[in-house]
Amino acid sequence: MQTEGILHSIETCGAVDGPGLRYIAFFQGCLMRCLYCHNRDSWPLQSDTSQIVTVAELMKEVMSYRFYLKASGGGVTASGGEPLLQYEFIGQWFAQCRAAGLNTCLDTNGYARFYDEKLDYLLDHTDLVMLDLKQIDPQRHKALVGVHVDKTLKFAQYLAERKQSVRVRLVVVPGYTDDDATAHLLGEFIAPMENVLEVELLPYHELGAHKWALFGDTYKLQGVLPPPAETLQRIQGILAQYGKKAFF
Ligand code: SF4
Repeated sequence: MQTEGILHSIETCGAVDGPGLRYIAFFQGCLMRCLYCHNRDSWPLQSDTSQIVTVAELMKEVMSYRFYLKASGGGVTASGGEPLLQYEFIGQWFAQCRAAGLNTCLDTNGYARFYDEKLDYLLDHTDLVMLDLKQIDPQRHKALVGVHVDKTLKFAQYLAERKQSVRVRLVVVPGYTDDDATAHLLGEFIAPMENVLEVELLPYHELGAHKWALFGDTYKLQGVLPPPAETLQRIQGILAQYGKKAFF
């Protein structure tokens, strides 16, 4: 039983990672290697700067914010890094949040390695899954993210079978995910999924690029500019052809 969680950081008043105002716990560790990662320091499973907490400690802190979280229609979000790496702990945390009347969001890249009762327990206590579908094409996904897309697609299918409420997120990266083919592939994939409520288009940005140098890594997207609004509107239009509402 995972009795402690390893946190990268906390944000007590987030406004973009789920409905209302959110208490966001960023969990340490990620197995993807996205070229645009703005949390490069969250990759290691342990870090000198990470914080180890029990569910009781985390809940004590969350409850001190519960009035404004509830008043805004918000709650808590598990993000990262990749929260699925600590899915047992987060399941226990979400269960307590739900019992306290707080909405729960799982912000994930979908790289699930285990399908067991602990994963189901987590999902049973999750109100909304925000699922990054970074690129459906396998080769292009590997080039952008560093791992094969199959685990994420399998997870998306699993959520569909469970009828789990999902907001899909697409980071729109010029040259990597801003073309029509990417949008059509995504549209085709999610069109049959009634559990996909909406798609959020996130324009690429360079924030966090400086962290790569701290690890001695080269930031390969140096010089790539955020996509213009017309690009986001074009993708929005393509997804609408598949019956999916996109916003940005
Ligand atoms: S999934 Fe998120 S944390 Fe992991 S490498 Fe990609 S952007 Fe970074």
